[in-house]
Amino acid sequence: TFQLVWLRNDLRHYDNAALHAAAQTGLPVVAVFISTPQTWQQHDMAPIKQDLIRRRVVALQQELAVVGIPLLAIEADCYSDCTAILRQLAQQGAVGLYAQTEYELREQHRDLAVTHALGAMGVPCFWFDSQCVMPPGSVRSKTGDIYKVFTPFKKTWLAQLQHKGVRVLSKPLVQKTIALDVTGFTPMLVGDDSSAAWPVAEQQVLELLRSFCRERVQDYQQARDFPAIDGTSSLSPYFAIGVVSAQQAVARLQTEADSALWQEGTGAAVWLSELIWREFYKHILVAYPQLIKHRAFQHDTEAIVWGNNEAWFAAWCEGRTGYPIVDAAMRQLNQTGWMHNRLRMITASFLVKDLQIDWRWGERYFMSKLIDGEFAANNGGWQWAASTGTDAAPYFRIFNPVTQSEKFDPKGIFLKKYLPELAGLTGKQLHWPHPLPMSVQYFRPVVDHAKARLRTLSMFKAARGES
Ligand code: FAD
Repeated sequence: TFQLVWLRNDLRHYDNAALHAAAQTGLPVVAVFISTPQTWQQHDMAPIKQDLIRRRVVALQQELAVVGIPLLAIEADCYSDCTAILRQLAQQGAVGLYAQTEYELREQHRDLAVTHALGAMGVPCFWFDSQCVMPPGSVRSKTGDIYKVFTPFKKTWLAQLQHKGVRVLSKPLVQKTIALDVTGFTPMLVGDDSSAAWPVAEQQVLELLRSFCRERVQDYQQARDFPAIDGTSSLSPYFAIGVVSAQQAVARLQTEADSALWQEGTGAAVWLSELIWREFYKHILVAYPQLIKHRAFQHDTEAIVWGNNEAWFAAWCEGRTGYPIVDAAMRQLNQTGWMHNRLRMITASFLVKDLQIDWRWGERYFMSKLIDGEFAANNGGWQWAASTGTDAAPYFRIFNPVTQSEKFDPKGIFLKKYLPELAGLTGKQLHWPHPLPMSVQYFRPVVDHAKARLRTLSMFKAARGES
């Protein structure tokens, strides 16, 4: 007999609640990962994220082998294949299945089907709600309500952290190894190596977290808004697939910067705030499952009549809007699979409020390109930018892309990196090169920001029934 651990978005062996609990039973543990490219495609998962997952699973196989846990990596098509695969493995003597809870709809259906199928064989499933330091539903107001606004959510979240602390689990102890019969299964395929720039060894990723918290977090508050500076952690791809947990991040921050953590405005406190945003959007998603169907959080904004100009959308996707900061940012996304947070805000605002394109188009495009694509954060970010979400930017606050560029890339270092055609320009002209000097070949602006802004204001007013 053995315990079966089904790994999904928790691709780590330190602080893995499901692995830890299975190992604690003293029985041999077998881990399984099932790749489902067809479902991933339905979810618009970026190829680079798929590759990161595949590379990470291979690394995890080696890490788990050291503690005597075989990780079976099986290739399938879609979520509905998981039930049969797990049933077949469980038939070989599993006494329990252990896995981390996932919050999205198709994932919930998949897990329910597995629970029923294995339950019918007398194999119980144990689900661990460990994606957040504070699981969804556990941060509530005094009257028991879910918060719809970030600031009070954060206040209660911090009070709970102070009260309860954070617990990080050790890696499993060395187990008695057991081999299962895997004939009939297709071994997981290797990826296209597009994510090769991102290391996947768990120790290396934990070291990135450690060095960020030790050496860089104190400057986070000053540096985090400037895309030319390496001022943020760049850990998002690892949080997204669970190479590192939020618990580990908070515990590490406490170890390295505990006194600063509780002082408003320090780098450590602001970074913790970002981790709380990550949890806030997951809590909101669980409380309002209509979000998973891409509905607007604020129902009245469903009445907005978007322009949805396809040519403008293509220009935005391809980084040729004529607005340098938008174009450089989109090229960063297209070329690297990652985009700086300030630029995600600027490009999202531009798509929605300058081009009047439905935020769902941008949400989908981001997902199809991001190595850290994550439903709750992406949906939350887009609805924030589009003023349709919880605690969103007010609709009349519209980023000016040129001013944003001057403010957050004053010397144009980021612009020049992605727009070599503007290399000869300096000063204000770099941020707004129109009319174009004779020597420069660049795109004409797709819209005039001042006019676009007025169009957007009337579009929102019309949807709200204001004249
Ligand atoms: P750091 O600044 O070092 O932050 C640490 C961690 O906190 C991040 O790795 C991330 O897990 C979390 N975090 C930071 N900011 C946010 C935020 N605003 N919302 C939720 N979590 C946050 N983040 C994703 O992980 N996946 C997405 O698909 C995603 N889509 C976004 C779309 C839009 C339109 C916007 C405005 C933001 C989006 N974000 C998304 C949030 C944020 O931009 C990224 O998490 C951040 O840029 C990642 O870089 P980092 O790891 O260096 O972040």
